[in-house]
Amino acid sequence: MRYEGHVIRPPSEADSLLLQATIGCSHNRCTFCGAYRSVAFRIRSQAEIDQDLAWAARHARHQDRVFLCDGDALMIPQERLRAIMQAIARDLPWVRRISLYANAGSIAGKSDADLGELRRLGLRRVYMGLETGDDALLRAIDKGVDAAAQIRAGQRIRQAGISLSVTALLGLAGAGDASAPAAATAVALSQMAPDHIAVLSLMLVPGSPLAAAAARGAFLPATAMDMLQELRALVAAIDVPRALLLVNHASNHLPITARLPSQRAEVLARIDAAIAGRQALRPEALRGL
Ligand code: SF4
Repeated sequence: MRYEGHVIRPPSEADSLLLQATIGCSHNRCTFCGAYRSVAFRIRSQAEIDQDLAWAARHARHQDRVFLCDGDALMIPQERLRAIMQAIARDLPWVRRISLYANAGSIAGKSDADLGELRRLGLRRVYMGLETGDDALLRAIDKGVDAAAQIRAGQRIRQAGISLSVTALLGLAGAGDASAPAAATAVALSQMAPDHIAVLSLMLVPGSPLAAAAARGAFLPATAMDMLQELRALVAAIDVPRALLLVNHASNHLPITARLPSQRAEVLARIDAAIAGRQALRPEALRGL
């Protein structure tokens, strides 16, 4: 397998074969994100992908999941994506699940029939970065899309029968009270009703516009307590029939994995204990991306 640049995958794809179908991110403007900042987005050729699949057919026979990198592989035009997924089925017939990152724009670029076809070809999970449901914050971070469009996109993924994992990012509002953005994010997540809700905590990535804003004093980062209060408000207000809450990313101060809504009370008690100082937090030096 050949990889270019940073290869990033969700924590739950740790055992997946990472197939770099695209390089970079077609949006590449979110102010907090430094993942692909110096990389021009491109779709790899079918010949390059076929070479990787030939390698995997010899050396990755135990891996039955494939994650299509990089930042938004759903941007690949339907006919190209169809060919890639058919090649995976041809060369790695033991693969049971294909997943990828997508954003509201790339989902909007697919018709319902396209999404249904991708489901039949093996697309089983889409990871989507909502970040926040607050439109002013979405504009501030240059997400390029509003909450309503993100909600529609997430709902269409679920309606296509594809598992949806949505990420929210604590700390985007900066220091102080974030109860209003937390409420907006809870509304968006409730309307999307994802199978997985992943919550990360903002870290300033060197070279990102948000890190530069913080360095010149234009953005005051949220404290650990600010983010715990935001997490509490978020968890208290999410109204979904059933979801796995994953606050298990290395950026988080308080690791949590729980079912919602059934374990909400336990989660809130754990967060309250942390806010009251009765629960140890991950030391700042051990937080990571
Ligand atoms: S957060 Fe996602 S959509 Fe935004 S620039 Fe980074 S990879 Fe692209």
